[in-house]
Amino acid sequence: MKAAVVSKESNGKVEIKEMNLRPLEAGEALVDVEYCGVCHTDLHVAHGDFGKVPGRVIGHEGIGIVKEVASDVSSLNVGDRVSIAWFFEGCGTCEYCITGRETFCRQAKNAGFSVDGAMAEQCIVKADYAVKVPDGLDPAQASSISCAGVTCYKAIKVSEVKPGQWIAIYGIGGLGNLAIQYAKNVFNAKVVAIDINDDKLDFAKELGADLVCNPLKDGDAGEWIQNEIGGAHGAVVTAVSKVAFNQAVNSVRAAGKVVAVGLPPETMDLEIVKTVLDGIQIVGSLVGTRKDLEEAFQFGADGKVVPVVETRCLHEVNDIFEEMEQGKIKGRMVVDLKK
Ligand SMILES: [Zn+2]
Ligand SMILES: [Zn+2]
Repeated sequence: MKAAVVSKESNGKVEIKEMNLRPLEAGEALVDVEYCGVCHTDLHVAHGDFGKVPGRVIGHEGIGIVKEVASDVSSLNVGDRVSIAWFFEGCGTCEYCITGRETFCRQAKNAGFSVDGAMAEQCIVKADYAVKVPDGLDPAQASSISCAGVTCYKAIKVSEVKPGQWIAIYGIGGLGNLAIQYAKNVFNAKVVAIDINDDKLDFAKELGADLVCNPLKDGDAGEWIQNEIGGAHGAVVTAVSKVAFNQAVNSVRAAGKVVAVGLPPETMDLEIVKTVLDGIQIVGSLVGTRKDLEEAFQFGADGKVVPVVETRCLHEVNDIFEEMEQGKIKGRMVVDLKK
């Protein structure tokens, strides 16, 4: 089978290789991969930004059909459609795993980084950690929900925004456009979308954003949002920018919650007095649990959330990386492994 593996030099490139998979062990299933999305995280892995992993099969936005299960597996059947996500496996016994916070398991394994991932014609998964994809959800769209979608869905859950309340979404890229759809169509929140690109704000309006703010034209988004609506009840920051994080803190009303999702390699400024006197909460949110993913998939199957995807071929992964680095990509590039 063919697979995209991190190059020996870990120079931000992958090689397309012919590989043989080992036999299944207890608890495992073999999946014929249909689609795998290309994520910025894959580019980080290929560059060795989280530690070098030459020879590792990348990919954590995989969707495929179960071809074979180990004799002890009861949670999956041959023919099931499942996902291969960044949260590949937890230890199952630690304080995080047993309290609904399994993505923070200190022993968690990540597909396409600490174990071989889904950018391949076939992939071995831990059966109990592969989340089933519901009928009625397009598998290419499902691949986008398995990472970007569930990340946004979980972040809005963490924000605790209630129906009719305001949520500010910073950054309307691959994550932000899905965040708007979940916020509007699932959580029934009011959305203010913030981006420095007017095209993206037009897209945000099409998706139902109630207000849009371009800080390059409207000034500091925090002040603008305080003036327009008296502050948001919550904010989700997908933008990879320190400025966005700082403005997000200033855009929430008292007792508001700022959920950090984007990963700029910087520190944010935090005014201690405001944090205390306004009771502001700032919290990180990392992808989602198996249960979160099951829910995020179902809202996709119900048509409440529609990811924008474009299918490509396996040999194009390096081209997609280049387009990503040049900021050329709109929507999600999804590799069709059956092509
Ligand atoms: Zn991803
Ligand atoms: Zn654990």
